[in-house]
Amino acid sequence: MAKKIASTLLLDLSALPEGFHRRRVARDGVGFEAFIWRGGAGPVLLVNGATHGDEYEGPTLLQQWVQRWKPRRLRGTVVFIPVLNEVAFFAGARCRPDDGANLARSFPGDRRGSPTQRLAKLFDDQLLAQCTHYADFHSAGVANELKPWVGYVTNLPKAVDRDQARMAACFDSFWSWSGPYLPGRTLSAAADRRIPAIYTECRGAGDVAAADLAALDAGLRRMLVVLGLVAGKMPRLRAQVTRITRSVRETHLQVHHQAPHDGLFISRVRLNQKVRRGAPIGEVLTLAGQSTVIPAEHAGKVVVVRLQRSVRKGDALAVLAPI
Ligand SMILES: [Zn+2]
Repeated sequence: MAKKIASTLLLDLSALPEGFHRRRVARDGVGFEAFIWRGGAGPVLLVNGATHGDEYEGPTLLQQWVQRWKPRRLRGTVVFIPVLNEVAFFAGARCRPDDGANLARSFPGDRRGSPTQRLAKLFDDQLLAQCTHYADFHSAGVANELKPWVGYVTNLPKAVDRDQARMAACFDSFWSWSGPYLPGRTLSAAADRRIPAIYTECRGAGDVAAADLAALDAGLRRMLVVLGLVAGKMPRLRAQVTRITRSVRETHLQVHHQAPHDGLFISRVRLNQKVRRGAPIGEVLTLAGQSTVIPAEHAGKVVVVRLQRSVRKGDALAVLAPI
């Protein structure tokens, strides 16, 4: 099996000499920059940012590590892809404009599909296929703001679940929110391969909050220790607010409080606010002046809220979590 994979690899990590490498991985008209630290036998940790092009915390942190990180002893391999979705990144948009497809709904991808599907396939069969552990750094992007969390796909084999919980615990400044498999994600592709994987969600709002960057940095450092890639003492981790849901809908952010029509969104809630079921989270006004009030679908804390005031029918305006 390993031989079959190796024969089709554009970048065979196991064939790289020890040390630091920069490689462009490209095929079928799509590609990305990969940075690799090789340190001999051991786990292979893959981390990427900008699965969505308007999320800047992951790219910023990973580029800082690329510029500065010189591990003295590394047991295993670390691969960073600071910007996975380059075309969307340069468009300043969640999705690339030419096909409009969401990369985080396009896995495991298709070499004969749209550019986004080809990019998903490239990442899946070239990088995910070679890693033993995976982390995807997301954020709320430019249009939203959120209460930072870490999460993973539940109901995987016990050993995978246990590793994921250990990885997520490293990000102890964030709360932890996990739920069942949702198709199309990087994490679902990792789950299909039974690779322990986590994702993080930072505040977004088109910015990079210093506190989020520090939390992400600390989490990444600890994860390297937990996975045995670098030696070090683990600090005592703070207990996280943790929620594991069985609901497929709960952690599917785009299905909550959808705009009933195009218009101007006027928000009546703030991040972290506790909201009663039925209380107005805001209203959407058509440009002709008709208003629709949006009631809270259930009680909970505001963990995502829409900042961009122009909305299209179906856009999610807020997400409430029962925490
Ligand atoms: Zn994202």
